[in-house]
Amino acid sequence: MNILIEVSYLIASVLFIFGIKKLSSPKTARRGNFLAALGMLIAIVVTLLDRHVLTFEWIIIGFVVGGIIGVLMAYKTPMTGMPQMVGLLNGFGGGASLLVALSEYYKMKNFPMWTFNDATNITIVLSLIIGAVTFTGSLIAFGKLQGIVTGKVVKYPGQHPINVVLFISLITAGAFFVIDPTLEALVISIAVVSLVLGVLLVLPIGGADMPVAISLLNSYSGLAASATGFVLQNNQLIIAGALVGASGIILTIIMCKGMNRSLLNVVIGGWESAGSTGNANSNSSPKGEVKSVDSEELAMIFDAAENIIVVPGYGMAVAQAQHAVRDLVTLLELKGKKVRFAIHPVAGRMPGHMNVLLAEAQISYDKMLSMEEINDDFPNTDISLIIGANDVVNPAARNDKNSPIYGMPILNVDYSKTVIINKRSMNAGYAGIENELFFYPNTLMYFGDAKDAVAKLTQELKNL
Ligand code: NDP
Repeated sequence: MNILIEVSYLIASVLFIFGIKKLSSPKTARRGNFLAALGMLIAIVVTLLDRHVLTFEWIIIGFVVGGIIGVLMAYKTPMTGMPQMVGLLNGFGGGASLLVALSEYYKMKNFPMWTFNDATNITIVLSLIIGAVTFTGSLIAFGKLQGIVTGKVVKYPGQHPINVVLFISLITAGAFFVIDPTLEALVISIAVVSLVLGVLLVLPIGGADMPVAISLLNSYSGLAASATGFVLQNNQLIIAGALVGASGIILTIIMCKGMNRSLLNVVIGGWESAGSTGNANSNSSPKGEVKSVDSEELAMIFDAAENIIVVPGYGMAVAQAQHAVRDLVTLLELKGKKVRFAIHPVAGRMPGHMNVLLAEAQISYDKMLSMEEINDDFPNTDISLIIGANDVVNPAARNDKNSPIYGMPILNVDYSKTVIINKRSMNAGYAGIENELFFYPNTLMYFGDAKDAVAKLTQELKNL
């Protein structure tokens, strides 16, 4: 039986790895998702068949209640709310590791047939600390993205020394626990201090850095699961946790590069770095004349253009304008224009957000180019059409040292001959800062909800 279980776990692990590999390309991503889900199904069924399970009642109750909540959340959460949902789910993963570690501790303490040993003590303490930090850190991240907790950079005196002291005391208490695991107060203290540390680490992180923090917490939840796997001596959990931990840290590094944030800054939490010290309102307000166009004038400008780059952002997702955008692009191509999409790594509210929406509207992946692939082409572009994007094209990231987004790489739309910006107002984007691009001499504002505005433009182009 044991051999059967271990072989099934191995098959599930291989399916996870192939699943992740296939997720790296949009063309194979669906199959990758299916393979990974199949791996998870095998892992769950095999774990339930394992003779360690004594009674199924609570498992069935958890399965039904959790399943209903999960299905409702998946249906109710809009695409724009995905980062919060991911944040919350990471937190549950961390919380589960914390609870498993505690229950293993009490099992060993209270039942004579189980005994503590150094290896188990180390893994219990790791599972406790990482699980608790991930749990409260993720809840704060969820609160920040949901607008329940302030999205601003929160600073207080002695912030970093306090974190360092808490961290050192956790390591010291952990070492004592390994030596003498019978002290219950020590375990409770480790759990409580770790929960507090999770809050203190994420609270200072500003809204603009939150996607990186979520990705990092995702990685932590994997490490916590892996540590729990050692506690339970479950190879499947060790491997699955390690995969989540590793892929989470790879995504974190990619996002750090995309936003020009140092990984250390995010790990330590709100550490000062270029830009992160800036106050959202500290940059001198850009001034000048704002020129706006209506759909009729705009249709004529597009009719004369040859080379067009579309830059989608969060507003396109909110307006669900991707199908209207596809109709516009199809018409422009019929008129002989070259049209491509420029995708910033953190456009929208989650990595790959824009690619998913555009693909849903049957726009081919070949037309979606990453920032590195397309950024040098803007000077040879007639029109950059920005649809509901703001921070990812804000030149303050290049020009204003006091700006919270200073240093973040942006799409160089301002180098193109004409910049058309579609949004509803002059309001700021996610980072809460004004955009000097709106005042540039080559910029034209095209106000309106993205879906209606793009449909109107398409209609005017047809009328020409
Ligand atoms: P922004 O949030 O900077 O700007 C979006 C703009 O869309 C707003 O200024 C808004 O202006 C406009 N908008 C909103 N609704 C509509 C609508 N119905 N029609 C037309 N326009 C609309 O988005 P970006 O994509 O440029 O940048 C993403 C930001 O989100 C970055 O700061 C990034 O760090 C952050 N982030 C990214 C994540 C990721 O992983 N991708 C995750 C979490 C945060 P107006 O109100 O005037 O219409």
